[in-house]
Amino acid sequence: MSLNMINFSFMQLGHLLLGLVVGYVVASLIESIMHQYVSDAPNKSVKRWERFPVLFNYLIRTRYSHHVVHHRRTFKQDYVTQFRDEAERLALDAELAERGAHGKIIQRSQYAVRLHGSGALVFVAPLLPAIPATAWLLSGWGVLGVCIALALPPLFSHFIHPYLHMPHQRAVSEAPPITAWLLKTWYFRAMARNHYMHHRYVASNFNLVLGGDLLRGAWRKPSEKDLMEMQRLGLSID
Ligand SMILES: [Zn+2]
Ligand SMILES: [Zn+2]
Repeated sequence: MSLNMINFSFMQLGHLLLGLVVGYVVASLIESIMHQYVSDAPNKSVKRWERFPVLFNYLIRTRYSHHVVHHRRTFKQDYVTQFRDEAERLALDAELAERGAHGKIIQRSQYAVRLHGSGALVFVAPLLPAIPATAWLLSGWGVLGVCIALALPPLFSHFIHPYLHMPHQRAVSEAPPITAWLLKTWYFRAMARNHYMHHRYVASNFNLVLGGDLLRGAWRKPSEKDLMEMQRLGLSID
């Protein structure tokens, strides 16, 4: 292998790593911002959107499935119990039946625990401008790194989020092998704690892709009482 070829490979690797790092920071920031201002938007934003339903229907639906269904109509008993009993689930089914096709999509997503239908767009669409922006600055390898990192928010929402709402041991035993291995790592255990904190204090700790909340000052450290409650629920607290 000539020296030129080796240098070239190092440059490709450098661009790939740079793309991964830049993409990760952008993905984490956008996830945190979109989760706060769309998925968990305050009532006054929703009222404003409702004045232009055709334009903002998509945001209204995203906020309903995440904030209303995932945060308020499910996991009422605690963070690891989606429904107290069958009656609670049937009551939500009746409410969703009135919402037609969107209600069915929410049911298919296990009541907004997984990413569903066009729901993925809210995470994916704001990330797309980062691709031409990096293509302008980096080589194809850099863009590849960015694309991999930008795929993390929707991938985590779909494949990891359902297991965050389970006691750690149950999550590890029910998840497919690769997911189970991931769930045992430091990063994913920290993600589970961060997501518990988000459900406990809905105005902070928005990230699954960790970091953006911290950079935005939207991260809250668990108190001793929070950690005790996590332990009681079977989450991993170290
Ligand atoms: Zn939320
Ligand atoms: Zn959740």
